[in-house]
Amino acid sequence: MSKLLAVGTVAFDAIETPFGKTDKILGGSGTFVGLASSLFDIPVGIVSVVGGDFPKAHLDMMNSKGINTEGVEVIEEGKTFFWSGVYHNDMNSRDTLVTELNVLENFEPVVPESFKDASIVMLGNLHPATQMSVLDQLNGTPKLVVLDTMNFWMDSALEDLHKVLKRVDVITINDEEARQLSGEYSLLNAAKKIHEMGPKYVVIKKGEHGALLFNDHNMFFAPALPLASVFDPTGAGDTFAGGFCGYLAKTEDISFANMKNAIIYGSNLASFCVEKFGTERMESLNFQEVENRLQAFRDLTQFDIKLS
Ligand code: AMP
Repeated sequence: MSKLLAVGTVAFDAIETPFGKTDKILGGSGTFVGLASSLFDIPVGIVSVVGGDFPKAHLDMMNSKGINTEGVEVIEEGKTFFWSGVYHNDMNSRDTLVTELNVLENFEPVVPESFKDASIVMLGNLHPATQMSVLDQLNGTPKLVVLDTMNFWMDSALEDLHKVLKRVDVITINDEEARQLSGEYSLLNAAKKIHEMGPKYVVIKKGEHGALLFNDHNMFFAPALPLASVFDPTGAGDTFAGGFCGYLAKTEDISFANMKNAIIYGSNLASFCVEKFGTERMESLNFQEVENRLQAFRDLTQFDIKLS
């Protein structure tokens, strides 16, 4: 079993979907990664920052799941990162209404001593310079560095993003962002270009259409489970990444063959995340439910065809 260190936002989100609207609720890339990966019963530590307005109960909830929050700095006089978004009828795309960086603006992450030897590091969606600073604080080189990012950072910090990508093994990115980063429409060509930027493995998330894993000439597809009700896709991408990293940390096998299983776990966990608003479903989820749903994934894709 390996230690997993995740850096990302711990945030307030206000979300609107065709099924309803929330006030400020718990969100953030670090929160979703932490909740998903903690299901694998591995040591997980989060590095982030919140303001004095952040309820301690949220950190207590994370601690109760075994997530180490020593690395979550609390700036009493500051305000927590706030993001607000709206989904239209097509829940695969969303518009960001507000991004208030607040305490994130001058965030200097501090990796707790106990996680400096983490073998898997998830650089969750955050300023690429912050992601780089986390890598610089580690003792030695981790076994696997996974990075997630979004268009917001491509628009505002592309140069820093390119720098950190050189030190990354796996990137998880959505299809639209892969096209933006590479300038290629074909996802196959996009993956090739991104591969040249540093990451040996490229995972392209396609929302309700599943995810693709690329490595050299190998390619693998994991479906998303068709669901009767999708309430809120927020955090699905981070949950996917948390599931991917959590499974690899648990199994300590970073081969391409095992990464295929890891993206199935990622898709599986994301299928739970979207069932309720915010973190609600992930907070109540247990590992048995995850295992039970794996069969549905297998049934969805397995077929027996004779090749001549
Ligand atoms: P996802 O739906 O997986 O892409 O992630 C949504 C989460 O990302 C929300 O909970 C937000 O708080 C967080 N988020 C939104 N914008 C940013 C940003 N620019 N940097 C980091 N986290 C963000």
